[in-house]
Amino acid sequence: MSGVRTTCPYCGVGCGVLVTPDGAGNASVKGDPDHPANYGRLCSKGTALGETLGLEDRILTPVIGASAASWDAALDLVADRFATAIREHGPDSVAFYLSGQMLTEDYYAANKLIKGYIGTANVDTNSRLCMASSVAGHKRAFGADTVPGAYEDLDQADLVVLVGSNLAWCHPVLYQRLVAAKKARGTKVVVVDPRRTATCDIADLHLALASGSDAALFNAALVALADRDAVDETYVARHVTGFDAALASARASDPAMTGLPVSDLAMFLDWFTTTERVVTVYSQGINQSSSGTDKVNAILNCHLASGRIGRPGMGPFSVTGQPNAMGGREVGGLANMLACHLELENPAHRDAVQGFWNSPAMPDKPGLKAVELFDAVAQGQIKALWVIHTNPAVSMPDADAVARAIKGCDFVVVSDVTQTDTTRLADVILPATAWGEKSGTVTNSDRTISRQRPFLPAPGQARDDWRMIADVAARMGWCDAFGWSNAGDVFAEYAALSGIAGDLGRDFDISGLVQADYDALPPTRWPVSAQRQGGRFFAQGGFFTPDQRARMLPITPRLPVAKTAPHYPFRLNTGRVRDQWHTMTRTALSPRLNQHIAEPFLEIHPDDAATLGLAPATLARVTSPQGAAILRVAITDRVQRGQVFAPMHWTGETAPTGRVDALVAAVTAPFSGQPESKASVVALTALSPA
Ligand code: SF4
Repeated sequence: MSGVRTTCPYCGVGCGVLVTPDGAGNASVKGDPDHPANYGRLCSKGTALGETLGLEDRILTPVIGASAASWDAALDLVADRFATAIREHGPDSVAFYLSGQMLTEDYYAANKLIKGYIGTANVDTNSRLCMASSVAGHKRAFGADTVPGAYEDLDQADLVVLVGSNLAWCHPVLYQRLVAAKKARGTKVVVVDPRRTATCDIADLHLALASGSDAALFNAALVALADRDAVDETYVARHVTGFDAALASARASDPAMTGLPVSDLAMFLDWFTTTERVVTVYSQGINQSSSGTDKVNAILNCHLASGRIGRPGMGPFSVTGQPNAMGGREVGGLANMLACHLELENPAHRDAVQGFWNSPAMPDKPGLKAVELFDAVAQGQIKALWVIHTNPAVSMPDADAVARAIKGCDFVVVSDVTQTDTTRLADVILPATAWGEKSGTVTNSDRTISRQRPFLPAPGQARDDWRMIADVAARMGWCDAFGWSNAGDVFAEYAALSGIAGDLGRDFDISGLVQADYDALPPTRWPVSAQRQGGRFFAQGGFFTPDQRARMLPITPRLPVAKTAPHYPFRLNTGRVRDQWHTMTRTALSPRLNQHIAEPFLEIHPDDAATLGLAPATLARVTSPQGAAILRVAITDRVQRGQVFAPMHWTGETAPTGRVDALVAAVTAPFSGQPESKASVVALTALSPA
């Protein structure tokens, strides 16, 4: 086999790759020159994909307890334990916890089983930790979770504002596109981030604002737009409601909350109000906040007020972390959504989906969001839990408490590719196919649906996720509704359902895609309707609210919930490093990627290190109200005084001295339920003094 066209499995940029297998389990990988996300570019992680195909630590057979088992025995047990919990305690006693690593087809199958057949909405995903605040912000402003822009807007903008987004390390190919645009057209770049990240290397202005104060910054921008006659009054009059209330609220908030120098703030406001082609890119620094939804709406307010949305080179742009966070949103992979951007709480939408599925059940209220879900596990309310392709024992906030909850749950099944901290707590482990072995689709941050294609045989007894879900459904008595033969069948059913969403005004009709050859499907950005094919949303209004007008919202900025105090004097920011992905189950297989940064670390300002007696590369004990870890210090003025930063990748095995997310408080944002992963409070003690 040669030249298989597929998609990188790491971040939400969704780069196309061309893979040439050697027939012996290895493959060479290069960027796909024809894929619109990357046009041949790759980052360090994508380039090293061929080094991560080994079978080290792979799960190759089903496991019950500590023993290998047959598929029949494992699936019978899973179906029996879920059926028993439902019979004895009702459908809300079971839950699925999914992942933005899953393919759209797998996500669709899981949602159909738990919502339409089991009858509970207790299905959430690690994407809740990644971009739920953007989903909630979009729904509040636009009436549906719709990203208005496209990647080429970055190429065409004159000003790009990156808010809480370390694009250079977390979305590297978009960073490469921005560097190219800056070179070609002199694009100005503003980075809004408390920390001086690698992305600041190309910043014309770095706004190192106070942690969590982003809404105050964008309220100041809204006031400046109004005071400098930069509001698009025609657009607002035709397409927007709530302008006066949003502006009044913005005027009542104090820009001093940002802690920014007056001159820096003035420069930003000058650029933001006088440049027409502005793209505001935002990511985890906005989303992972107890006021994340409000921050998103503060940004959307500015773009709506100025009419800079949905036109070339302008718009708000939420970039997702995971490769298929967007695909999960499209098939309703969150506890408060239905497939195809339909609403769980809308009776007409519920009826339409249930009618299409011809299913026996449909919940009429949202299920438990991630943090609530694991709280319910801890309290014994969830009797059976299925975790698919994610490692919540490491990645959830208050991770040690989550690990204890999983361990104490009556029945836990985990489907995954390799052993993780979470599989080690499971009653049943199901071996799943990995990237390169499975077939399906993913959707990237600009709504482009791309194929993932197999080029390796499934090892051992590994099985596709959609098939495992269908196998369990069949054992629970729902054989016909899950009788797909392959992933293309699942996609065709999902695409047909999207036609119903189109009938309900969602502009998400991709049903025409079934006419294309699924195997040959080229990268396709929705919407695909005749009016808006492949383009952007909202330049001429057409929002998904009842009056088709966008809603500007009054925003009162709120700082992080946890407050520093003498016993917890430092604010902990968590994030990622350039060459690792999530809990390193794949990237750690590449020696090249491991060379970048070999172990967990804690960035601390030189003045704070001196006060604590910490020398470079010595160890510090980090404690929070939730947990503790021991980390090697990296002394740098990239972080401000009083702030520290630690990456979250290292797990129980690779970080025996503690998991960083065990330090993070499980505080969440209203509306989105997204945890505040970047603003916990900690204390530090030198373990090996200078
Ligand atoms: Fe993969 Fe993201 Fe790198 Fe593209 S930017 S190659 S999708 S990790």
